[in-house]
Amino acid sequence: MKSVPNPERVGKEKLKPIMGTPPDLLSPPKGCPFYERCEYSMKVCRESMPPFFEIDENHKSACWLNHKDAPKVGIN
Ligand code: SF4
Repeated sequence: MKSVPNPERVGKEKLKPIMGTPPDLLSPPKGCPFYERCEYSMKVCRESMPPFFEIDENHKSACWLNHKDAPKVGIN
């Protein structure tokens, strides 16, 4: 989310790029496609695609950090 431009913050903050290269979509990974480039990746991320976790009625997130047993890293 830190790499998504915010129209209200243009010129006021530096975007944080996602390092590395995207996965091969012709041979997608078994787990989360961000695993190789995510600074919060865990073993479960490599092994299983995260399901959608409901954050609120209008917001879902496909990230294992939203699981009830995930470590709290300050972004969830
Ligand atoms: S599931 Fe979340 S924490 Fe895991 S690699 Fe993907 S984006 Fe990162």
